Amino acid sequence: MKKLLISTVLALGALAFYLALAQRGEEARMAQPLAGAARDPGGPVDLRVLLDDVRTLSSDAFEGRATGTPGSRKAQAYLQARFRAIGLLPFGRDYAQAFAFSTHSVGNIFVPGRPFRGDYPDAANIVGYLRGSAAPDTFLVVSAHYDHLGIVDGKLYPGADDNASGVAALLAIASYFTAHPPRHSVLFAAFDGEELGLRGARAFMAAPPVPRAQLAANLNLDMLAHNDSNEIVVAGSHLWPALKAPLEQAAGRSAVRVLTGHDRPVLAAGLVERWDDSSDHAVFNEAGIPFLYFGVADHPDYHAPSDTIEHINPAFFGRVANLLVDVAALMERDLDRVAR
Ligand SMILES: [Zn+2]
Repeated sequence: MKKLLISTVLALGALAFYLALAQRGEEARMAQPLAGAARDPGGPVDLRVLLDDVRTLSSDAFEGRATGTPGSRKAQAYLQARFRAIGLLPFGRDYAQAFAFSTHSVGNIFVPGRPFRGDYPDAANIVGYLRGSAAPDTFLVVSAHYDHLGIVDGKLYPGADDNASGVAALLAIASYFTAHPPRHSVLFAAFDGEELGLRGARAFMAAPPVPRAQLAANLNLDMLAHNDSNEIVVAGSHLWPALKAPLEQAAGRSAVRVLTGHDRPVLAAGLVERWDDSSDHAVFNEAGIPFLYFGVADHPDYHAPSDTIEHINPAFFGRVANLLVDVAALMERDLDRVAR
C-alpha cells in the first residue's frame, strides 16, 4: 500500500514536471513571432474609414450593442448600409438573418435584478457575399461578432476593441475584394450573440445560406486593435497545417509581430490556455472547417467600460488590418488547397 502511494506520488510529480516543461517550451516558442518585415509595407486599407467604423460602432448611440437592444438594431442598420455601399450581395431579401434563442444563467439566481432565463426572440446575423469568378460554389467565410455587453448596471460597455475592431477589419477586407474580385466566393458574416455563447455562429451553422460543404475555410476576427507591443496572436495553424503557408507568407511581409499558439494539446503546450473555443471560429472548427483566428492578448480594458476608441492603438490596428487583407487574399487564392 505504501509502495503504491509512493509510486503514485512519483508519477504525478513526473507528470507535473513534464507539463511545466512543456508549458515553458510553448511559451518560449510563442514569444518568437513569425518572420516579418522590418518596415511597415503599408497596404490597401483606408485607415480613416477603418477608424470611422470603430468610432461609430463604439459610440454611445449604439449602447454597447447588446443582443436584442435598440443599440443592436442600430448596429444592424449601420452594417446593412455599409454592406450595401461596399457592394456585397445578400442571400435573401436583405443581409439580416434573424434567429432566436434563450439563455439560462445559474449565476444570475444570486444577483438581484438579473434573470435566470433570458429570451432573445429577435437576434440577427448580418451576412453578405461576393461571388467568385471561377469557383462560385466554394466559400471563404470572413467573420467577426458585432454584439457586445451593452449597458450593465447603468454602465455602458462600448466594446471598441471587442469587437468593433474586428467588424471594421471585416469591412476593410470586403472593400478590398470588391476592388480585386475573388476567384472563389467570399462570405462576410457579422455575428450577433457571441458574448452570450457563440449564438450567432451556431445559428448560422445550423442553417447556413449555402450548403455546409461549400464552406471551405473561416477567418475569424475578434479584438484586433489594442496592443502596446505590436503583437497579434493567431490560433488555428497548428490544428489546420494547410493554413500555415498563407499565414507565414502574409506575416513575412507585415511589420506586425505575428505570434502563433493557443491551439496545441496539453501534452505539447502544458497549461497554456487554448483558444479553440474562445470565439465564433469554434463553431467552424467543430464542423471540421479549417480556421484562423486573429486576436490580441487580453488587456486591462477587456470586457470593461474602458474599452473605448481612445484606448486602441490606431497605427497598430492599421497594420493588423492590412495584414488581414493579405491573409484573406492568400486564403482565398489557396482555398482549394487549404480546404479539408
Ligand atoms: Zn469578442
